Amino acid sequence: MSVFSHPAYDHHEKLIFHQDAASGLQAIVAIHNTNLGFALGGCRMWHYASEHDAVADVLRLSRSMTYKAAIAGLNLGGGKSVIIGDPRRDKTPGRMRAMGRLINSLQGEYVSAEDVGINERDISLMASETPFVTGYQAANRTESGGDPSPLTAYGVFRGIEEAVRFKLNRDSLAGVRVAIQGLGKVGYELARLLTGAGAVVLATDIFTENLSLAIKMLGVIPVPSEEIHRQSVDVFSPCAMGAVLNAGSIPELLAPIVAGSANNQLAKSADGRRLADAGILYVPDYVINAGGLIEVYYQYVGADRRDVRRHIDRLAGETLPKIFHLAQERNTPTSEVADQLARERFMIPSADYAETT
Ligand code: NAD
Repeated sequence: MSVFSHPAYDHHEKLIFHQDAASGLQAIVAIHNTNLGFALGGCRMWHYASEHDAVADVLRLSRSMTYKAAIAGLNLGGGKSVIIGDPRRDKTPGRMRAMGRLINSLQGEYVSAEDVGINERDISLMASETPFVTGYQAANRTESGGDPSPLTAYGVFRGIEEAVRFKLNRDSLAGVRVAIQGLGKVGYELARLLTGAGAVVLATDIFTENLSLAIKMLGVIPVPSEEIHRQSVDVFSPCAMGAVLNAGSIPELLAPIVAGSANNQLAKSADGRRLADAGILYVPDYVINAGGLIEVYYQYVGADRRDVRRHIDRLAGETLPKIFHLAQERNTPTSEVADQLARERFMIPSADYAETT
């Protein structure tokens, strides 16, 4: 398998493959860029169709983390890890601890937290082997830690408010219709915040228990998985996996706004232009979903956690409108404006970063 010529390879500093024979762990860590600081990014466990897919995912995810930290004003680099396997079937305490040892071997160059398929309990198991994890409630620390997903959801909620204000000229989410794809750690909490604000939430999840719970507890309107992006709503909110915005799905979108937590929502960077040409306001994924990163960063460095929401509010209330206005003025997709702003922060002047990948 080629790496340096891989389409998702973009000046990554390190790619580490690891197998632990005793537990059966197979994992990959990617460190994209550490110009601003150590690399912080979650660990994902997923049943990838092939090793090639796992490599592509970790390369793309770690790159996004560099951009996310930069646009969020954090002095952090970008990294991510993936464990190959089905989180519902293949997860064992031994594998989580082996993952902790792998993270520990990097001695703080990469710090991990939750992502898809990995929860707070898994991070606690990794923490028994390494101090280089965050986003969990440590027994020996008095301040509250924990899963950052609620803060990610809060950031997405704030981002939706700003997008609705800009695009629809509405100051309230009451009556605004939102279609959520994925009711996991972030999507469920987002649905709770939205219904609490009076929005009408349509939702789906391939895991039927999640959907049933959201119908029962929050009154969301269920939609078949393959239909969710085609709903006649104000906001389509992808909160599951990446690459959902592509040449096939974009022409089918009816929502004037796309704003969700999923990482790497654009299948190709050209899809940002496709959305703009269709008159759809795309809220760049790594800007709107940075709330969790901000939270775990504050946890990890021991900063005052009361400032986390203020930090997220600034990103939503100042940076997002700036991106929307610049995109309009320059007739440039919001995704490209965000990339430019992020690169201005993390790039060293001589680095020849690709404009798009
Ligand atoms: P999760 O694993 O808790 O939830 C994902 C949910 O999506 C699951 O319930 C799964 O069944 C569902 N799903 C998967 N494919 C689907 C499909 N095709 N249609 C409908 N549902 C589908 O993960 P999460 O932590 O909630 O993260 C969701 C997304 O947000 C991911 O892309 C993740 O990378 C991103 N994200 C999460 C955080 C965080 O703090 N958790 C932070 C930033 C970005």
